[in-house]
Amino acid sequence: MRLVFIGPPGAGKGTQCKRLVELLQIPHLSTGEMLRSVKRQDTALSRWVASYIDAGKLAPDHLVMRIVAQKLQSEECANGALFDGFPRTIIQAQLLDDYLVENGLKLDMALELRVVEEELIQRLLKRAQIDGRADDNYETIRERLHVFRTQTAPLTEFYAAQGKLESVDGMKSEQEVFAAIKACVAKHS
Ligand code: AMP
Repeated sequence: MRLVFIGPPGAGKGTQCKRLVELLQIPHLSTGEMLRSVKRQDTALSRWVASYIDAGKLAPDHLVMRIVAQKLQSEECANGALFDGFPRTIIQAQLLDDYLVENGLKLDMALELRVVEEELIQRLLKRAQIDGRADDNYETIRERLHVFRTQTAPLTEFYAAQGKLESVDGMKSEQEVFAAIKACVAKHS
């Protein structure tokens, strides 16, 4: 199964993705993780990538697609993948669709996790204290939420038009959210 996980920063995507990849036994492709690993190198590319991440802005669409395509070519992704934090723009969604069509593959489902913005800010500020993630400060959090609202949220309509969208209420407990996600997976399997 191939699925896209859409949710604003702080919605609990990371936690639910871990449970989902274990259930489905598919690789977890987090573009945030991939870009942070590029950022940790000491190259011109890493400094360029860092300038986007540290400002809470989106890295360029074609760069992200290139990194994802490299992963998708590996044997472990032959039978499915969970895309976490990708696509983040309509252009990325179109690039992914093109890639999948060209390679005779298909996306089965887009899962949206919904959480209200005030709750997201509280959760992200708490995460900043615990993990010390450089992009979890108040200014960057506001920017990332703005980017989500303007650039990523329209993806729900994009996938609804393809009949692939499922929405889950992310304000419930971790267990309840996962139960709802499992029901969505069953519907599209
Ligand atoms: P995340 O861990 O998914 O919250 O991503 C952290 C940061 O990495 C984001 O704020 C962006 O700067 C960058 N990033 C992650 N995924 C993407 C993507 N699909 N497109 C562009 N930038 C991304």
